Amino acid sequence: MYDVDDLYQDVVLDHSRRPRNFKRIEDADRTREGFNPLCGDRVTLFMTFDGDVISDVSFEGSGCAISKASASMMTESVKGKSRAEAESIFNSFRAMITREEGADVDREELGDLEILEGVSAYPTRIKCATLSWHAMHSALVEEEKTVSTER
Ligand code: ZN
Repeated sequence: MYDVDDLYQDVVLDHSRRPRNFKRIEDADRTREGFNPLCGDRVTLFMTFDGDVISDVSFEGSGCAISKASASMMTESVKGKSRAEAESIFNSFRAMITREEGADVDREELGDLEILEGVSAYPTRIKCATLSWHAMHSALVEEEKTVSTER
């Protein structure tokens, strides 16, 4: 039901042209790189924790409008959240984008991210939208591992 133009709504265009949290964090606790060979999108994710809370998150990279907008919106949605909350948003976002069968998608939790739902109609674009999210998820999981071995 989506027209290709729906993928590039004002909010998506705004985030891709003026990405939020688009910077390097020099003393980040976690750094993750992601690459989507299908489209050529590259992202480097930076994440800083204050206890269990994501105190800062940012990204750098280059790629298509969808990958940039999704990364920008991702940083806004998980900043200040606990790791469990960020994981929950990740799961809902992934389920929405991939139209995961029987998945529990928390619409309230997703908020503005729902705008990206149109991407689910374009399988080749799904990896663009999820690239930064997988990097974020990887950073969260690794952090937990590190914490458990250090304590
Ligand atoms: Zn892309």
